[in-house]
Amino acid sequence: MNCYVCSLNGATSASVAICTHCGVAMCQKHLQEAGEYSAGGMKYSCPHNPAKVTAK
Ligand SMILES: [Zn+2]
Ligand SMILES: [Zn+2]
Repeated sequence: MNCYVCSLNGATSASVAICTHCGVAMCQKHLQEAGEYSAGGMKYSCPHNPAKVTAK
C-alpha cells in the first residue's frame, strides 16, 4: 500500500502505518506529521482530511 498523503501530492511512498483516525495509509514522514497534528485542541483529528478529498 502507498502513502495516501504522498499520492495526493503526486508522489509515491510505501506506507508504514494506518491512520487510527481515518484509516488511510501513511509513510513514516506523514505518520509523524499526523501524530503532531491537532486542530483546535482536538487530538483526534488528522492533517489529511479525507472528507475533503471525497467531496471533490
Ligand atoms: Zn507520505
Ligand atoms: Zn487520518
